[in-house]
Amino acid sequence: MLALTLKAELSGVTNLRPDDTPENPFWYTFKVECTSCRETHPNWVGVSRFEMNEMSGSRGEANFVWKCKNCKREASATIKAAPASYEVAEPPKKVKIIELDCRGLEFTEFKPEGEWLAQGTDSGTKFTGIELTDGEWFDYDEKAGDEVSIKEVEWDIRRA
Ligand SMILES: [Zn+2]
Repeated sequence: MLALTLKAELSGVTNLRPDDTPENPFWYTFKVECTSCRETHPNWVGVSRFEMNEMSGSRGEANFVWKCKNCKREASATIKAAPASYEVAEPPKKVKIIELDCRGLEFTEFKPEGEWLAQGTDSGTKFTGIELTDGEWFDYDEKAGDEVSIKEVEWDIRRA
């Protein structure tokens, strides 16, 4: 099992989470390594918890089914549950966002493409369409009359 963790400095916002619903699925973007031949593949791949793919040989379904171009083995990955929210903490803590059950592959790098949601810490203002690809985000909370931000964004993939 692999876990994708997030650590970030939140100012004025909390409850940071991927915008991930059946109507608007979030695509978790990773670099993938085959655990049979240890080849890391150059292209980014997307995994959605709402996408089901058939594995060959009636082995069931997985969110992500992938065939290594080098050794031709089939591998798969499935997201175990809905993503966790990142709550504001001082100092910032590492939080597990999703857990992935990986068979025959490992994800080695994460790219935070896609939109995130957050909420004003005291105001409850809803922020949508947050992008974390630059590693930081800035906005203004009208209701709180203050600037809000997400900085020092760090991703990690580790064994859970
Ligand atoms: Zn391989």
